[in-house]
Amino acid sequence: MVGGDHDRTMTSMPRAPSPLKLLDLDALRELLRRRGGERYDGEPVSHLEHALQCAALAQRSGAGPDLVAAALLHDIGHLTTGLPGTPSAQGVDDHHESVGATLLARWLPASVCEPVRLHVQAKRYLARHPAWARRLSVDSQRSLVLQGGTMNDAEAVAYASQPGALDAMRLRRWDDAAKRAGVPTPSLDEFWTVVERVAHSR
Ligand code: FE
Repeated sequence: MVGGDHDRTMTSMPRAPSPLKLLDLDALRELLRRRGGERYDGEPVSHLEHALQCAALAQRSGAGPDLVAAALLHDIGHLTTGLPGTPSAQGVDDHHESVGATLLARWLPASVCEPVRLHVQAKRYLARHPAWARRLSVDSQRSLVLQGGTMNDAEAVAYASQPGALDAMRLRRWDDAAKRAGVPTPSLDEFWTVVERVAHSR
C-alpha cells in the first residue's frame, strides 16, 4: 500500500485547458453549468452536485469564504483535462488537482488554490489511518493507488509542513462526504457570489 510519487501514473501530465477559452471567472461558471451534469467518477452524483455538496459542507462547518470557494472548485481540473469518462477506471491519473490549482491561480488567491492543489495529497496523508481509508468510495480507493498510495512517514512529514495542508485535510473530509444522491444545496449562483468576493479581495 505504501507508495511514493514515483509510483504515480505518468500517462497524462498536468496541462493547460487549451480546448477551452477560460478567459475569466464567468467562463469557469459556464463550464460548471455546461458540463456539471456529467456523472462524477462512478459516484451517485454529478460533478456539479458534488461541487455544491462540498461547498455546502464547508459553509456548514463554518469555513471562511476562501475555503468555501476551494470546496466548490476543488475538482474543476476534472472538467478541463479533456480526458473522457472516468480516467481512474482506465488506469489514468488526470492530475486534476494540479491542473485545477494552476487554472484557478489566474483569478484566486493561494488560500483557495493551495487546498485545491493539496487535496489529493491530503487523501494520501489521511489514508495513513486505515479506518479512514476503508470509508473511501471505490473510485477514491482506486484513484488513491494511481496517485501514489498511502504516504510513508517522510512524505507525511513533508506534506504536513506545507501551508494549506490543514485546509486541504478539511476539504478532503468534505470531499469524501459530498457524494450522496439527492442532497439539497444552495445553488451555483449563490456560491458564485462567494467566489467573486474572494477573487475581488485578492
Ligand atoms: Fe472531489
